[in-house]
Amino acid sequence: MDGFKMIRAYWPVIAATALSFLAMIVLVSLRDSTFTAGIFDVLRFGPLVGMGFALLYGGWVTYRLVQAERGDGPICPRCGGPLGVEKYEPYSPHRTCLICGTHANERHYR
Ligand SMILES: [Zn+2]
Repeated sequence: MDGFKMIRAYWPVIAATALSFLAMIVLVSLRDSTFTAGIFDVLRFGPLVGMGFALLYGGWVTYRLVQAERGDGPICPRCGGPLGVEKYEPYSPHRTCLICGTHANERHYR
């Protein structure tokens, strides 16, 4: 698997990590002012939630990539990558490929 496909599969992890770091930088500046200390108290766990999501999602994507390599689980009919969770809106039941991003109807993975 080339680097671009890896970035495509892990982009939510990269985005959540980057946003968490940006939020931490902003929150540190809020903490020191008495005027914004209340906002800091409310938002202080935001970056932690973002990092937690990145960790869980990253683990799940890694698990699905390993599964697809072994041929287990729903696999993309176009590129052979792992398919994500089943969705019902706005189309009929389908899964979106984690690597190429195309939608596969349920008849292509059952
Ligand atoms: Zn695919």
